[in-house]
Amino acid sequence: MVERNRGRKSAPGGKAEKRAAPPHSPTLLHERALAAAQQSLFEWRPNQDRLTMGAAFWAQIGHPHEGPSLPLRDFHGLLVQEDRLPLGEVLRRAAATRPDGAETIPASFRVATPAGDVHEFTLALAHSPVLLEGEAVVTGIVSDATESLRLRRELVEARNLAESANRAKSEFIATISHEIRTPINGILGMTGLLLDSELSDEQRDLARTVQESGQALLDIVTDILDFAKVEAGKLELKQIPFELPDLVAGAIRMTEACAKAKGLELVAQIDPKLPREVLGDPGRLRQVLLNLIANAIKFTERGKVSVRARVLSRANRTVRLRFEVEDTGIGISEEAIPKLFQKFSQVDSSIARRYGGTGLGLAVCKSLVDLMTGDIGVHSEIGRGSTFWFEVALPEAGRKLGRAPPSGPQRAGVPVLVVDDNPVNARLLVALLQRMGHPADVVDTGTKAVEAARKGEHGLVLMDVQLPGLDGYEAAAAIRSLPGRRGEVPIVAVTGDIGESDRERYRGSAINDFVHKPVDAGVLNDVVKRWAGTSVARPAPREEEPAAPVDGLIDESVISALNARIGPAKTGELVDLYVADLKERVEYVRAARTAKDMNALHRQAHDLRSTTGSLGLTRLFALGEGIQSATHEGNEKQAFSLAAEGMVVAEQTIVALAAADPRNDA
Ligand code: ADP
Repeated sequence: MVERNRGRKSAPGGKAEKRAAPPHSPTLLHERALAAAQQSLFEWRPNQDRLTMGAAFWAQIGHPHEGPSLPLRDFHGLLVQEDRLPLGEVLRRAAATRPDGAETIPASFRVATPAGDVHEFTLALAHSPVLLEGEAVVTGIVSDATESLRLRRELVEARNLAESANRAKSEFIATISHEIRTPINGILGMTGLLLDSELSDEQRDLARTVQESGQALLDIVTDILDFAKVEAGKLELKQIPFELPDLVAGAIRMTEACAKAKGLELVAQIDPKLPREVLGDPGRLRQVLLNLIANAIKFTERGKVSVRARVLSRANRTVRLRFEVEDTGIGISEEAIPKLFQKFSQVDSSIARRYGGTGLGLAVCKSLVDLMTGDIGVHSEIGRGSTFWFEVALPEAGRKLGRAPPSGPQRAGVPVLVVDDNPVNARLLVALLQRMGHPADVVDTGTKAVEAARKGEHGLVLMDVQLPGLDGYEAAAAIRSLPGRRGEVPIVAVTGDIGESDRERYRGSAINDFVHKPVDAGVLNDVVKRWAGTSVARPAPREEEPAAPVDGLIDESVISALNARIGPAKTGELVDLYVADLKERVEYVRAARTAKDMNALHRQAHDLRSTTGSLGLTRLFALGEGIQSATHEGNEKQAFSLAAEGMVVAEQTIVALAAADPRNDA
């Protein structure tokens, strides 16, 4: 092959010089050396359409070849179909390249060997073609990359597997911690009620101990839960307006009693230039601040703890803030500082025994501050004290804060329907409601909730959203479709931590408000005051807006046409089938999102398109298309955000389908 051209290489545009190749030409030696490295020389002469490869290449694919060269078209016959066109393209491009570049042009192709397997080759083409007898000859080196690519793929797979196993572990911990928190909340709530009742001094002491131990347990589990959530990528920060000076003052108020009990002074220095309203996650910001203040109090025996909040800079309606918590406590050695913000690390085990704790608090703080794209650190001197600090940048809120005030005075004695499958939670809610003067009934499934609401005896529904079978959102939607005032009963969701997708679901649902678990008696009181006994607006009944498609979710003409052709019973059956399919698909998409599995998402989007088109589920069809093109382009962010939207739209579509079901009119 190339040895034929040895020495004939000419300067660009120059005249080629002819000479016969000696038997052990340097080129032959080069080729031997290349073959040892699984490589061969490559040459393509476009005018003569001859493609020449070194013997190593033919040996690698185990192909008997008559001569060293062949026309490009014949070579294409050896390639995997999809690679034919691209290789031809790149060769033509290489032949046309002006002979002034030094780099190589990368290409690749796959050969289906006579033995039936596929070899992958990379091809490094010289950027400048060699001019031989006025012909621009493309030269390069072909390497068999089958093995290295396989190894790389295995490595990527192994990494993905390890990452997903790690995420699965964190998700497991998050779920378990959540499960543990529920009964602890029961213990705390009930003990709180017990402490409010008539007790002897001894009983009161015992109940207080139960409450303190329960609280300590809850704090630990909450730390573990937060940490697992961060690790599983499940912790999402809110972006809501809140009052910054109030938040700092609130954190001080919450820790004041602890400081006082230890005889410590707790002082706050709040920069008067602090913006009143900012956007961010107040709960998480407070958590970091509280953690630092609690540590400062814990590790200080005498002196004081100072909390400072100040503005570092302000630009483009974003304010950079610095928070500091300074104590006069035991201090931390220089060697211990780098380990401080790692999980499960305490400065030394004797400290852990003396002071208790899991060593997770600061790790959680760091994760949270990282999520806020801020910084956290400490200056400390053994025996003199420590100053923990963190800095975050937050946008200033430009709008009015606060919810609508409760409407009028509290209506007493409004019967409340409590929907919760956990008997401890349900009893706690009932007890709190009774204390506010509202009688309550309990049911434990969504279906029973709809049945109870049908009787129209309740002025408020407190609905756990995670219910077996019909979940809280679905039950709420079903209640809204009840006739008359029965469908107008206010519904308040009782939820665990809600993520972005839940929040979207909540926004698009029939639920009017929500309270978080663990349910705070004060918050519950406010919410009940606001809603109990009122009646809420709901979407106008279907009769008033006939065939109009609901928000363009579905094209009802498709269902009407089907109905005309096959009748309401069969169409209804089809609708049922689609609803079942959609519910299943939502679960698959949810799983693909959680596992960040783009391939699975791509498949789901593909199926979604093919199933939704035929029943006129317009919005979902469009979303399927959007997700598919995002997954195709490898745009993860876009794909996963469209998938989140898809889940919400799927739920809405299910409701819209139920409304459009022709069996309703039959
Ligand atoms: P824990 O939950 O065990 O308190 P943290 O992550 O909050 O875990 O703290 C880790 C360790 O850092 C503590 O056990 C303690 O040794 C040290 N530490 C934290 N804050 C202070 C402080 N203000 N003064 C001295 N040591 C501290």
